[in-house]
Amino acid sequence: MSLRVVPLNLTEANLLVALWHRHHTPAVGHRFSLGAIDDSGVAHGAVIVGRPVSQHSGSAHEVAEVTRLVTDGTRNACSILYAAAARSARHMGYTRIQTFILVAEPGTSLKASGWVSEGPAGGNPWGHRPGRQSQSLGVKERWVLHLNPPPRASFAGRSRCPGPGDAPVVAGPLFYLGVGSDAHWLATSDVPLFISRRRLQNRRTFPRAVTRWVLDSGGFTEMHKFGEWRLSSSEYAAQVVRYADEIGHLDWAAPQDWMCEPSALAMSGRTVAEHQRLTVDNFVDLRQRLGLLVVPVLQGWDYDDYLRCVDLYAAEGVDLESERTIGLGSVCRRQAEGDIARIIASLMPLRLHAFGVKGNAFVANRDRLVSADSTAWAYQARYNAPIPGHTHKHCHHCQVYALRWRRRLLRRLDQLRLPLDIG
Ligand SMILES: [Zn+2]
Repeated sequence: MSLRVVPLNLTEANLLVALWHRHHTPAVGHRFSLGAIDDSGVAHGAVIVGRPVSQHSGSAHEVAEVTRLVTDGTRNACSILYAAAARSARHMGYTRIQTFILVAEPGTSLKASGWVSEGPAGGNPWGHRPGRQSQSLGVKERWVLHLNPPPRASFAGRSRCPGPGDAPVVAGPLFYLGVGSDAHWLATSDVPLFISRRRLQNRRTFPRAVTRWVLDSGGFTEMHKFGEWRLSSSEYAAQVVRYADEIGHLDWAAPQDWMCEPSALAMSGRTVAEHQRLTVDNFVDLRQRLGLLVVPVLQGWDYDDYLRCVDLYAAEGVDLESERTIGLGSVCRRQAEGDIARIIASLMPLRLHAFGVKGNAFVANRDRLVSADSTAWAYQARYNAPIPGHTHKHCHHCQVYALRWRRRLLRRLDQLRLPLDIG
Protein backbone atom coordinates (compact mmCIF):
# COMPACT_ATOMS: atom_id res chain seq x y z
CA MET A 1 0.00 0.00 0.00
CA SER A 2 1.37 3.40 -0.84
CA LEU A 3 0.71 6.20 1.60
CA ARG A 4 0.87 9.92 1.13
CA VAL A 5 1.03 12.67 3.68
CA VAL A 6 -1.70 15.29 4.01
CA PRO A 7 -2.23 18.19 6.41
CA LEU A 8 -4.90 17.76 9.08
CA ASN A 9 -6.57 20.26 11.33
CA LEU A 10 -6.43 19.56 15.06
CA THR A 11 -10.00 18.23 15.25
CA GLU A 12 -9.31 15.68 12.52
CA ALA A 13 -6.03 14.64 14.12
CA ASN A 14 -7.62 14.27 17.57
CA LEU A 15 -10.38 12.12 16.08
CA LEU A 16 -7.79 9.71 14.72
CA VAL A 17 -5.92 9.71 18.04
CA ALA A 18 -9.16 8.87 19.86
CA LEU A 19 -9.91 6.12 17.32
CA TRP A 20 -6.62 4.24 17.72
CA HIS A 21 -5.29 5.23 21.13
CA ARG A 22 -8.11 5.74 23.55
CA HIS A 23 -5.83 6.27 26.54
CA HIS A 24 -4.30 9.36 24.93
CA THR A 25 -6.10 12.55 25.89
CA PRO A 26 -6.86 14.92 22.98
CA ALA A 27 -4.14 17.47 22.29
CA VAL A 28 -5.29 20.94 23.28
CA GLY A 29 -3.14 22.75 20.72
CA HIS A 30 -0.73 22.09 17.90
CA ARG A 31 1.66 23.77 15.50
CA PHE A 32 0.57 21.43 12.74
CA SER A 33 -0.80 17.93 12.23
CA LEU A 34 -0.35 15.48 9.39
CA GLY A 35 -2.14 12.35 8.29
CA ALA A 36 -1.06 9.37 6.19
CA ILE A 37 -3.72 8.35 3.68
CA ASP A 38 -3.87 5.67 1.00
CA ASP A 39 -4.90 6.02 -2.65
CA SER A 40 -8.59 5.86 -1.77
CA GLY A 41 -8.26 8.53 0.90
CA VAL A 42 -8.50 6.23 3.92
CA ALA A 43 -6.42 7.45 6.86
CA HIS A 44 -3.86 5.04 8.38
CA GLY A 45 -2.07 7.31 10.80
CA ALA A 46 -1.75 10.80 12.21
CA VAL A 47 0.89 12.88 13.91
CA ILE A 48 0.36 15.99 16.03
CA VAL A 49 3.29 18.35 16.42
CA GLY A 50 3.23 21.05 19.08
CA ARG A 51 5.54 23.15 21.17
CA PRO A 52 7.72 21.40 23.77
CA VAL A 53 5.63 20.18 26.68
CA SER A 54 8.46 20.68 29.17
CA GLN A 55 9.72 24.24 29.45
CA HIS A 56 13.23 22.84 29.92
CA SER A 57 13.20 21.36 26.41
CA GLY A 58 14.11 24.57 24.64
CA SER A 59 12.49 27.58 22.99
CA ALA A 60 9.08 27.10 21.37
CA HIS A 61 10.48 28.97 18.37
CA GLU A 62 13.29 26.48 17.93
CA VAL A 63 11.96 23.14 19.11
CA ALA A 64 8.97 21.25 17.73
CA GLU A 65 7.68 18.23 19.59
CA VAL A 66 5.70 15.24 18.33
CA THR A 67 3.05 15.10 21.04
CA ARG A 68 0.89 12.34 19.53
CA LEU A 69 1.54 9.75 16.85
CA VAL A 70 -0.98 7.04 16.09
CA THR A 71 -1.39 4.48 13.32
CA ASP A 72 -3.67 1.57 12.57
CA GLY A 73 -0.58 -0.64 12.34
CA THR A 74 -0.04 -0.19 8.60
CA ARG A 75 3.55 -0.94 7.73
CA ASN A 76 5.78 2.16 7.50
CA ALA A 77 3.00 4.58 8.47
CA CYS A 78 4.99 5.45 11.58
CA SER A 79 8.29 6.14 9.75
CA ILE A 80 6.52 8.14 7.05
CA LEU A 81 4.82 10.36 9.63
CA TYR A 82 7.99 10.94 11.66
CA ALA A 83 9.89 11.85 8.48
CA ALA A 84 7.09 14.14 7.24
CA ALA A 85 6.82 15.86 10.64
CA ALA A 86 10.58 16.54 10.56
CA ARG A 87 10.46 17.93 7.02
CA SER A 88 7.54 20.21 7.80
CA ALA A 89 9.20 21.45 11.00
CA ARG A 90 12.38 22.12 9.06
CA HIS A 91 10.50 24.15 6.47
CA MET A 92 8.89 26.18 9.25
CA GLY A 93 12.31 27.08 10.60
CA TYR A 94 12.56 24.87 13.69
CA THR A 95 16.09 23.79 14.54
CA ARG A 96 15.09 20.60 16.36
CA ILE A 97 12.23 18.15 16.52
CA GLN A 98 11.85 15.74 19.39
CA THR A 99 9.55 13.19 20.89
CA PHE A 100 9.31 10.98 23.94
CA ILE A 101 8.60 7.29 23.79
CA LEU A 102 8.68 4.55 26.40
CA VAL A 103 12.15 3.19 27.06
CA ALA A 104 10.65 -0.25 26.52
CA GLU A 105 9.57 0.68 22.96
CA PRO A 106 12.17 -0.07 20.29
CA GLY A 107 12.21 3.28 18.47
CA THR A 108 12.69 1.44 15.17
CA SER A 109 10.65 3.94 13.14
CA LEU A 110 12.49 6.87 14.69
CA LYS A 111 15.86 5.29 14.00
CA ALA A 112 14.76 4.58 10.43
CA SER A 113 13.91 8.25 10.01
CA GLY A 114 17.35 9.33 11.25
CA TRP A 115 16.35 10.40 14.77
CA VAL A 116 18.77 9.68 17.62
CA SER A 117 18.07 8.73 21.20
CA GLU A 118 19.23 11.11 23.92
CA GLY A 119 18.46 8.59 26.64
CA PRO A 120 15.90 8.46 29.43
CA ALA A 121 14.09 11.68 30.32
CA GLY A 122 11.63 12.60 33.05
CA GLY A 123 8.39 14.52 32.84
CA ASN A 124 4.98 13.65 31.57
CA PRO A 125 5.55 14.47 27.96
CA TRP A 126 2.62 12.78 26.26
CA GLY A 127 0.22 14.86 28.27
CA HIS A 128 -1.32 12.08 30.36
CA ARG A 129 -3.12 13.26 33.42
CA PRO A 130 -1.07 12.69 36.56
CA GLY A 131 -2.00 9.63 38.54
CA ARG A 132 -1.82 5.88 38.37
CA GLN A 133 -2.31 5.72 34.64
CA SER A 134 0.72 7.80 33.72
CA GLN A 135 2.91 6.17 36.34
CA SER A 136 2.23 2.80 34.85
CA LEU A 137 3.63 4.01 31.56
CA GLY A 138 7.24 3.82 32.75
CA VAL A 139 10.34 5.82 31.92
CA LYS A 140 10.42 7.84 28.70
CA GLU A 141 13.28 8.23 26.31
CA ARG A 142 13.87 11.43 24.33
CA TRP A 143 14.50 11.06 20.57
CA VAL A 144 15.75 14.03 18.60
CA LEU A 145 16.45 15.09 15.04
CA HIS A 146 18.39 18.28 14.40
CA LEU A 147 17.03 20.47 11.58
CA ASN A 148 18.37 23.64 9.98
CA PRO A 149 21.58 23.54 12.01
CA PRO A 150 22.98 27.04 12.55
CA PRO A 151 26.51 27.64 11.19
CA ARG A 152 29.05 26.35 13.66
CA ALA A 153 32.03 28.48 14.63
CA SER A 154 34.25 25.39 14.70
CA PHE A 155 33.94 25.12 10.93
CA ALA A 156 35.86 28.38 10.46
CA GLY A 157 39.38 27.94 9.17
CA ARG A 158 38.63 24.44 7.96
CA SER A 159 37.75 23.18 4.56
CA ARG A 160 34.51 24.65 3.20
CA CYS A 161 32.53 21.50 3.75
CA PRO A 162 32.28 19.62 7.04
CA GLY A 163 33.51 16.03 6.99
CA PRO A 164 31.39 13.02 7.78
CA GLY A 165 32.26 13.05 11.48
CA ASP A 166 30.76 16.48 12.07
CA ALA A 167 28.09 16.43 9.40
CA PRO A 168 24.79 17.62 10.84
CA VAL A 169 21.89 15.19 10.75
CA VAL A 170 19.22 16.55 8.41
CA ALA A 171 15.89 15.16 7.33
CA GLY A 172 15.58 13.63 3.87
CA PRO A 173 17.93 11.44 1.89
CA LEU A 174 21.51 12.43 1.22
CA PHE A 175 22.37 12.60 -2.45
CA TYR A 176 25.85 11.64 -3.66
CA LEU A 177 26.58 13.05 -7.10
CA GLY A 178 28.23 10.43 -9.32
CA VAL A 179 31.59 11.57 -10.66
CA GLY A 180 31.94 10.64 -14.31
CA SER A 181 35.65 10.64 -14.87
CA ASP A 182 37.58 13.28 -12.97
CA ALA A 183 38.63 12.24 -9.48
CA HIS A 184 39.87 15.77 -8.92
CA TRP A 185 36.28 16.83 -8.23
CA LEU A 186 36.96 15.50 -4.73
CA ALA A 187 39.23 18.50 -4.21
CA THR A 188 37.02 21.11 -5.85
CA SER A 189 33.40 20.17 -5.16
CA ASP A 190 31.52 20.97 -1.99
CA VAL A 191 28.67 18.53 -2.60
CA PRO A 192 28.73 14.83 -1.57
CA LEU A 193 30.28 12.68 -4.30
CA PHE A 194 30.12 9.06 -5.40
CA ILE A 195 33.19 7.78 -7.18
CA SER A 196 34.27 4.42 -8.51
CA ARG A 197 37.49 2.71 -7.54
CA ARG A 198 38.12 2.50 -11.28
CA ARG A 199 38.62 6.28 -11.37
CA LEU A 200 41.25 6.07 -8.64
CA GLN A 201 43.12 2.82 -9.19
CA ASN A 202 45.60 4.05 -11.78
CA ARG A 203 46.51 7.28 -10.04
CA ARG A 204 49.86 7.70 -8.27
CA THR A 205 48.65 10.53 -6.08
CA PHE A 206 45.20 11.40 -4.86
CA PRO A 207 43.35 14.67 -4.36
CA ARG A 208 42.56 15.63 -0.76
CA ALA A 209 38.78 15.63 -0.43
CA VAL A 210 37.02 18.79 0.72
CA THR A 211 33.69 16.96 0.73
CA ARG A 212 32.22 13.74 2.06
CA TRP A 213 32.15 10.93 -0.49
CA VAL A 214 31.42 7.26 -1.08
CA LEU A 215 33.66 4.75 -2.82
CA ASP A 216 32.01 2.40 -5.27
CA SER A 217 33.82 -0.88 -5.85
CA GLY A 218 33.16 -0.81 -9.61
CA GLY A 219 31.30 -4.10 -9.57
CA PHE A 220 29.15 -3.32 -12.56
CA THR A 221 32.12 -3.05 -14.89
CA GLU A 222 33.91 -5.99 -13.25
CA MET A 223 30.86 -8.24 -13.78
CA HIS A 224 30.10 -7.06 -17.29
CA LYS A 225 33.67 -7.25 -18.51
CA PHE A 226 34.95 -10.33 -16.73
CA GLY A 227 31.98 -12.10 -15.11
CA GLU A 228 33.85 -12.25 -11.80
CA TRP A 229 35.96 -10.26 -9.36
CA ARG A 230 39.60 -10.36 -10.39
CA LEU A 231 40.63 -8.47 -7.27
CA SER A 232 40.96 -10.36 -3.97
CA SER A 233 39.21 -8.98 -0.89
CA SER A 234 42.56 -8.26 0.76
CA GLU A 235 43.72 -6.25 -2.27
CA TYR A 236 40.46 -4.32 -2.33
CA ALA A 237 40.59 -3.68 1.42
CA ALA A 238 44.14 -2.33 1.07
CA GLN A 239 42.95 0.11 -1.61
CA VAL A 240 40.03 1.27 0.53
CA VAL A 241 42.32 1.95 3.49
CA ARG A 242 44.69 3.92 1.28
CA TYR A 243 41.87 6.06 -0.22
CA ALA A 244 40.38 6.67 3.21
CA ASP A 245 43.78 7.82 4.56
CA GLU A 246 45.12 9.77 1.63
CA ILE A 247 41.92 11.32 0.26
CA GLY A 248 40.07 11.70 3.55
CA HIS A 249 36.37 12.28 4.33
CA LEU A 250 35.32 8.84 3.04
CA ASP A 251 31.82 8.09 4.36
CA TRP A 252 31.87 4.41 3.43
CA ALA A 253 32.94 1.95 0.76
CA ALA A 254 30.79 -0.52 -1.13
CA PRO A 255 31.83 -4.19 -0.85
CA GLN A 256 32.79 -6.31 -3.87
CA ASP A 257 29.20 -7.26 -4.48
CA TRP A 258 27.83 -9.45 -7.27
CA MET A 259 24.99 -7.69 -9.01
CA CYS A 260 22.02 -9.72 -10.18
CA GLU A 261 20.94 -8.08 -13.45
CA PRO A 262 20.27 -10.74 -16.10
CA SER A 263 23.22 -9.35 -18.09
CA ALA A 264 25.57 -9.87 -15.10
CA LEU A 265 24.31 -13.44 -14.59
CA ALA A 266 24.86 -14.13 -18.27
CA MET A 267 28.49 -13.05 -17.93
CA SER A 268 29.23 -15.05 -14.77
CA GLY A 269 27.15 -18.11 -15.68
CA ARG A 270 25.90 -18.21 -12.09
CA THR A 271 22.47 -17.95 -10.44
CA VAL A 272 20.96 -15.13 -8.38
CA ALA A 273 21.36 -17.30 -5.27
CA GLU A 274 25.07 -17.79 -5.99
CA HIS A 275 25.60 -14.06 -6.53
CA GLN A 276 23.85 -13.34 -3.24
CA ARG A 277 25.97 -15.91 -1.39
CA LEU A 278 29.18 -14.45 -2.84
CA THR A 279 28.04 -10.91 -1.95
CA VAL A 280 27.33 -11.81 1.68
CA ASP A 281 30.56 -13.81 2.06
CA ASN A 282 32.58 -10.91 0.66
CA PHE A 283 30.95 -8.47 3.08
CA VAL A 284 31.64 -10.70 6.08
CA ASP A 285 35.29 -10.92 5.00
CA LEU A 286 35.62 -7.17 4.37
CA ARG A 287 33.92 -6.28 7.66
CA GLN A 288 36.76 -8.15 9.40
CA ARG A 289 39.33 -6.14 7.47
CA LEU A 290 37.67 -2.70 7.28
CA GLY A 291 35.20 -2.53 10.16
CA LEU A 292 32.38 -0.04 9.68
CA LEU A 293 34.04 1.53 6.63
CA VAL A 294 32.40 -1.13 4.47
CA VAL A 295 28.62 -1.42 4.30
CA PRO A 296 26.49 -4.48 3.50
CA VAL A 297 24.73 -4.59 0.14
CA LEU A 298 21.47 -6.38 -0.63
CA GLN A 299 21.46 -8.03 -4.02
CA GLY A 300 18.64 -9.71 -5.90
CA TRP A 301 16.42 -9.34 -8.89
CA ASP A 302 12.87 -10.45 -8.07
CA TYR A 303 10.97 -8.96 -5.18
CA ASP A 304 11.50 -11.98 -2.90
CA ASP A 305 15.22 -12.19 -3.67
CA TYR A 306 15.99 -9.14 -1.56
CA LEU A 307 14.20 -10.57 1.47
CA ARG A 308 16.14 -13.82 1.02
CA CYS A 309 19.34 -11.77 0.99
CA VAL A 310 18.32 -10.21 4.34
CA ASP A 311 17.99 -13.75 5.70
CA LEU A 312 21.47 -14.64 4.41
CA TYR A 313 22.95 -11.75 6.39
CA ALA A 314 21.00 -12.76 9.49
CA ALA A 315 22.33 -16.31 9.19
CA GLU A 316 25.87 -14.83 9.25
CA GLY A 317 25.05 -12.90 12.41
CA VAL A 318 24.85 -9.52 10.65
CA ASP A 319 22.10 -7.42 12.25
CA LEU A 320 21.02 -5.24 9.34
CA GLU A 321 18.70 -3.14 11.49
CA SER A 322 21.69 -1.80 13.38
CA GLU A 323 23.65 -0.91 10.22
CA ARG A 324 23.75 2.82 9.50
CA THR A 325 23.68 2.28 5.71
CA ILE A 326 22.79 -0.72 3.57
CA GLY A 327 23.37 -0.59 -0.18
CA LEU A 328 20.49 -1.66 -2.39
CA GLY A 329 21.95 -3.21 -5.51
CA SER A 330 20.67 -4.00 -9.02
CA VAL A 331 18.03 -1.28 -8.98
CA CYS A 332 19.74 1.12 -11.37
CA ARG A 333 18.86 -0.60 -14.65
CA ARG A 334 15.23 -1.15 -13.76
CA GLN A 335 12.64 0.76 -15.74
CA ALA A 336 9.60 -0.05 -13.65
CA GLU A 337 9.57 2.45 -10.85
CA GLY A 338 6.73 0.59 -9.13
CA ASP A 339 9.02 -2.43 -8.70
CA ILE A 340 11.71 -0.32 -7.06
CA ALA A 341 9.19 1.25 -4.68
CA ARG A 342 7.80 -2.16 -3.76
CA ILE A 343 11.24 -3.60 -3.07
CA ILE A 344 12.25 -0.59 -0.99
CA ALA A 345 8.99 -0.66 0.97
CA SER A 346 9.43 -4.36 1.76
CA LEU A 347 12.84 -3.66 3.31
CA MET A 348 11.75 -0.94 5.74
CA PRO A 349 12.92 0.01 8.34
CA LEU A 350 16.41 -0.74 6.98
CA ARG A 351 18.49 2.36 6.24
CA LEU A 352 18.92 1.99 2.50
CA HIS A 353 21.23 3.62 -0.02
CA ALA A 354 19.93 3.11 -3.57
CA PHE A 355 22.81 2.62 -5.98
CA GLY A 356 22.53 4.52 -9.24
CA VAL A 357 18.84 5.09 -8.90
CA LYS A 358 17.07 7.19 -11.51
CA GLY A 359 15.89 10.69 -10.61
CA ASN A 360 12.19 9.83 -10.59
CA ALA A 361 12.70 6.78 -8.39
CA PHE A 362 14.86 8.82 -6.03
CA VAL A 363 12.17 11.50 -5.68
CA ALA A 364 9.37 8.94 -5.37
CA ASN A 365 11.16 7.04 -2.58
CA ARG A 366 12.61 10.04 -0.78
CA ASP A 367 10.88 9.18 2.50
CA ARG A 368 12.35 5.71 2.64
CA LEU A 369 15.93 6.17 1.52
CA VAL A 370 18.84 7.27 3.67
CA SER A 371 20.84 8.15 0.59
CA ALA A 372 21.27 7.54 -3.11
CA ASP A 373 23.69 8.29 -5.89
CA SER A 374 23.38 8.89 -9.59
CA THR A 375 25.57 9.57 -12.59
CA ALA A 376 22.54 9.94 -14.86
CA TRP A 377 23.53 13.54 -15.63
CA ALA A 378 26.53 12.30 -17.65
CA TYR A 379 24.36 10.14 -19.93
CA GLN A 380 21.98 13.03 -20.40
CA ALA A 381 24.83 15.44 -21.18
CA ARG A 382 26.36 13.11 -23.76
CA TYR A 383 23.24 13.39 -25.93
CA ASN A 384 22.60 17.07 -25.44
CA ALA A 385 24.18 20.30 -26.60
CA PRO A 386 26.63 21.83 -24.14
CA ILE A 387 25.69 24.66 -21.81
CA PRO A 388 25.81 27.91 -23.88
CA GLY A 389 29.33 29.30 -23.80
CA HIS A 390 31.03 25.96 -23.00
CA THR A 391 33.62 25.11 -25.63
CA HIS A 392 33.52 21.29 -25.30
CA LYS A 393 31.23 19.34 -27.63
CA HIS A 394 29.22 17.79 -24.78
CA CYS A 395 29.09 18.41 -21.04
CA HIS A 396 29.45 14.76 -19.95
CA HIS A 397 32.69 15.51 -18.08
CA CYS A 398 31.54 18.94 -16.96
CA GLN A 399 31.25 19.84 -13.29
CA VAL A 400 29.08 22.89 -13.98
CA TYR A 401 26.58 20.72 -15.86
CA ALA A 402 26.59 18.09 -13.10
CA LEU A 403 26.01 20.63 -10.35
CA ARG A 404 23.12 22.25 -12.24
CA TRP A 405 21.55 18.84 -12.79
CA ARG A 406 21.92 18.06 -9.08
CA ARG A 407 20.33 21.37 -8.09
CA ARG A 408 17.31 20.68 -10.29
CA LEU A 409 16.92 17.19 -8.81
CA LEU A 410 17.08 18.41 -5.22
CA ARG A 411 14.65 21.25 -5.97
CA ARG A 412 12.10 18.65 -7.07
CA LEU A 413 12.66 16.89 -3.77
CA ASP A 414 11.99 20.04 -1.79
CA GLN A 415 8.87 20.92 -3.76
CA LEU A 416 7.39 17.51 -3.09
CA ARG A 417 8.33 17.65 0.56
CA LEU A 418 5.75 20.31 1.26
CA PRO A 419 2.55 18.78 2.65
CA LEU A 420 -0.01 18.14 -0.08
CA ASP A 421 -3.60 19.34 0.02
CA ILE A 422 -6.39 16.91 0.89
CA GLY A 423 -8.60 15.94 -2.03
ZN1 LIG B 1 30.19 21.95 -19.99
